[in-house]
This record gives sequence, structure tokens and C-alpha cells, in this order.
Amino acid sequence: MLIYGGMRTIYDFTLPETEDLLKAHGQKPYRARQLYNWLYRKRAESFEEMSDLPAALQKELAEEFFIMPVKLIDKQVARDLTAKYLFELADGSTVETVLMHFNFGKSVCVSTQVGCNMGCAFCASGLLKKKRDLTAGEIVGQIMYIQKELDAVNERVDNVVVMGTGEPFDNYENVMNFCAVINSDHGLAIGARHITISTCGIVPMIRRFAQGHYQYNLAISLHAPTDELRRQLMPVDRAYPLDELMDALKEYSEGNHRRLTLEYILLKDVNDSDDHARQLADLVRGMNAYINLIPYNEVSENGFFTSGERRALHFYDVIMKNGVKATLRSRHGDDIDAACGQLRARHEGISQ
Ligand code: SAH
Repeated sequence: MLIYGGMRTIYDFTLPETEDLLKAHGQKPYRARQLYNWLYRKRAESFEEMSDLPAALQKELAEEFFIMPVKLIDKQVARDLTAKYLFELADGSTVETVLMHFNFGKSVCVSTQVGCNMGCAFCASGLLKKKRDLTAGEIVGQIMYIQKELDAVNERVDNVVVMGTGEPFDNYENVMNFCAVINSDHGLAIGARHITISTCGIVPMIRRFAQGHYQYNLAISLHAPTDELRRQLMPVDRAYPLDELMDALKEYSEGNHRRLTLEYILLKDVNDSDDHARQLADLVRGMNAYINLIPYNEVSENGFFTSGERRALHFYDVIMKNGVKATLRSRHGDDIDAACGQLRARHEGISQ
């Protein structure tokens, strides 16, 4: 059961925040580690079962907090076993989460906002404007729900990509707290290098992230090599044009010694010509970055189509010949509503 009305999920709290919280309840810091152990190692579903916590504390926590903030309302499983979850939150909002099975492990793609305001022309998430930010714990809950499912088959969530609905850098504190919770050695202990945050390019937040010297991976949705084209696809480019974006990215990768991922979805006859590939290589050459070419998941009636496989391979070749590293991402979950936001949009009556 989901309870709201002023109550928060305990998954909202980072370990230092949990220590402060328990201190206010008259408890020593080690109690926070005990609580984390129950939540993230034993995957407890109630405070009552936390048998080594004082009974009075169990009761106080149960009066103030709930644990699981998401409830499953729909799930689609593709032939390749990619699974898409539609979750309901305590206020009735819905979000999507995706589980993908790779040979290098299980990856979960989480949403960070209910809807999105970035307005990218090709994206299904933007069909529904942002209703609110998710709290850190509501993002943690997406992982915990799937981890509990995987427990039944002795598997674990190995990788997390912050690439679902929402712009993570438009919900910065909550997203960083979410990462801290799942990264904590006392919690799920998902390594920082197994966590990737993807942003559409909000420059001031990229600079802030750079200054934090985190070990999380950073991915940028580039999708066009010129401002002229990028502006048509991504309104964020009007606020933060490519020269400012590239400067911030260089500062990040040089200051942090980290390789960047630049995401580029291939849109038929829009951004997939040889000229585009050469312009893209010119933009990126010399940077500590590689280009991840992504097949586009078509969203009905928005006028964008996937580049054919031959075009995609050729585009890849032109980039590589022009001295820039690239990868061509394989498709997943083709036969379900795989594009970000599609399942949710269908449930809310926006598409099909
Ligand atoms: N707002 C963030 C994270 C969410 S989108 C960002 O923009 O990076 C995650 C990635 O999926 C982005 O690169 C986005 O451009 C891409 N994307 C959106 N719709 C898509 C679709 N229909 N097919 C393929 N990729 C898509």
C-alpha cells in the first residue's frame, strides 16, 4: 500500500542524511548503517522486521516514513526480454523504468521527472509536460522494485542509466542523492563507473557536475553537429549553443580525466548525411569522447524516422575515417513501446 499525506519514503535519505535523521531520534550513527543494511541488503519491506533496531525506533520510523514508493501498474516484456515497467507513485503520477539484459549484465534505465519540459522534437517523453520532479527515493524505488524481482533469480542490477523520462540536470540535487544512495557501500554498492547520467546539455549544471569530481559517467545528447539543426530538434540549444556546451564538456573531461559519451540518434534524412558525419567528427575531434550512435525508436506521427541499417553503418564509417571513435548501439525492445515515455503516454491517452 502507498501512503502519502506528508509522508516520505525512507529511500530519500543518503547515508549521512540517515545519520542526521536518526540522531534527531536520539540514536548513534551506526544505527544508520544498520537501517541501510535492512533496506538495501536484506531488502526489507517494513520497519517491524528490522529486528536489531530498538522497537521504539521501528515504531517512530513507521509513523513517519513508508518504504516502497512505487507500485507496478503495467509491464511489457519484449522478445529479447527487455522489460518496461509502468509505476504509480504515491500521488497517482506514473513513471516508466526499463530493464535491459546485456552480456555485461543487467542495466536499469530510470526516470527522474514526471514528464519533461525540454521539448525535444523527436522524443515521446515531451508529449507530457513536466508535472513534477521525482524525489531521490522515488528514483531509488524504481531500482529496488526491479532488484527485488531479480532476487528471485539470484541476479543483480549491475548498471544504471539515468536516461528515462526527465532531464536529470533539471532535478540536480535529487538525482545526485539518488546516485549517492545506490552507490553507497552500505547499500546496493553499484559502482560509480556503472552509473551513467545523460543530459540534453544544461551548461551551468554540467559545470557544477564537473566541479563535484564524481566518478559517475556523463553522457550528452548531442543529436546534431550544428546549432542551426540542433535548435530545430532540441530547444535547449537556444539557451546553451554548441560552443558553450563544448567548452563546458572540455572543462569536464580535462578536469576529471573522464571520457565522455556523446549520444547521437540517427534520424532519417534529418541528421544522417555524410556531411553531418564529417561536421560531427570536426566538432568532436581531439576531445576525450566517443560518439554513441543510437537507432531511433519511432514515435507515431511525429514525422521522424529511423535511418536504415546501411545508412547507419556508413555514417559510423565516415566518423571513424575522420578520426573520431564511435559505437553503433544495438536495438532493444523493438516489439514493445520502447521509446522513452511511450508506455506512459499511451496510458494517459496521448498516443495510439
Ligand atoms: N533528458 C536526458 C535524459 C533522457 S533521454 C537527455 O536528454 O539526455 C535519454 C536519451 O534518449 C537521449 O539521448 C534522448 O535524446 C534519447 N531519445 C529520446 N527519444 C528517443 C527515441 N524515440 N529513440 C531513441 N532515442 C531517444
